[in-house]
Amino acid sequence: MEFKDYDTTSLLQYTKRPPLVFTSGAGSWLTDHSGKRYLDFLQGWAVNCLGHAPRVVEQALSAQAKKLINPSPAFFNEPSIALAQLLTNNSCFDRAFFASSGAEANESAMKLARKWGQLHPAANGSSRFEIITFESSFHGRTLAMMSASGKPGWDTLFAPQVAGFPKARFNDIDSVAALISEHTVAVMLEPVQGEGGVVPATKEFMQALRALTQQLGLLLIVDEVQTGVGRTGAMFGYQLFGIEPDIMTLGKGIGGGVPLAAMLCREEVACFAPGDQGGTYTGHALMTAVGLAVTQEILAPGFLVSVQKKGTILAAGLEKLSVQFGLQGERGEGLLRALKLGSDIGPQIVEAARDLAPIGLLLNSPKPDLLRFMPALNVSTEEITQMLALLSEVIATIKA
Ligand SMILES: *Cc1c(COP(=O)(O)O)cnc(C)c1O
Repeated sequence: MEFKDYDTTSLLQYTKRPPLVFTSGAGSWLTDHSGKRYLDFLQGWAVNCLGHAPRVVEQALSAQAKKLINPSPAFFNEPSIALAQLLTNNSCFDRAFFASSGAEANESAMKLARKWGQLHPAANGSSRFEIITFESSFHGRTLAMMSASGKPGWDTLFAPQVAGFPKARFNDIDSVAALISEHTVAVMLEPVQGEGGVVPATKEFMQALRALTQQLGLLLIVDEVQTGVGRTGAMFGYQLFGIEPDIMTLGKGIGGGVPLAAMLCREEVACFAPGDQGGTYTGHALMTAVGLAVTQEILAPGFLVSVQKKGTILAAGLEKLSVQFGLQGERGEGLLRALKLGSDIGPQIVEAARDLAPIGLLLNSPKPDLLRFMPALNVSTEEITQMLALLSEVIATIKA
């Protein structure tokens, strides 16, 4: 099949897409309409944590589809109960709510925090509803989450914004303290800012933030839609910092490629009354069955150690490329890493890597001077080596 044989005009255009139609995938590899293969270090934006078409997902889907797809959120179902138990048993949280997208999980966290703020007003009776977020943060694309995000330009796109999300500077505790008022109820952050350029919070900042929020009776919310479920080499990103948040959201990796997200909270914060929150697909049996299988795989003995090991190998390889080509070094946690290019050649590299023949390479450039790497968590050492070789080839051509 050739690309010109596809008529894509019926699809709404909202993003620039290359003239490729992907037809199949296996592990770290994708194949397009012409049969060309690509080594995939995007994995649907850190979504396919076990790679493309993993057996675990295929089996969970087919077994659950034969049994029960969705009885409705008004009734209990087995997979959602089991997944909630597995997540709470392996985290500092007591309760789980399931949704279909990261933005929706974050909206749930915002609603829960605002509800909790209504139940726990300030000493002078002021209602507490403000949630402090950060510059360059990314929390999703609903109107409220675009307002919560600190992505440049989003304050005016689709204005007016949803109110109540003052922005502090990441890794700057004084900037957080300066925004706290009688209306503040919570602080929300990504343990590693993903879209913002793979910027990890410092341990010092995260610990100071936990101490400050605890002292003032504010909730600490971690958006782990990108960092959760093994991505950083820890099961959850917050565990890297030796702190315990009050609320955590998950998305992306937890579904291994299917639309599943979650919000977890401590018992003291679980204050939704009947009718406060819901959604047609919340706690979907088919999706939570996949989430259960994926989470079990990530929690299997040795899996997270292997993510840490491969993270170290990837980091060393990127550092070597940086030295070789006079770039600005690398950063990240586990298998969420970035290479700092020192100039705005990111988009050019992404395009040239994709167009390599006979094997293409799929990468992401969240900022023009940066490449982001988010391979499958079960990527092989050989695939990392191969990726580095392909990337080296591309950078050599562009730098020449
Ligand atoms: C991707 C992402 C989201 C949004 O998730 P969707 O499933 O696209 O709604 C929110 N927060 C973070 C940190 C993300 O990386």
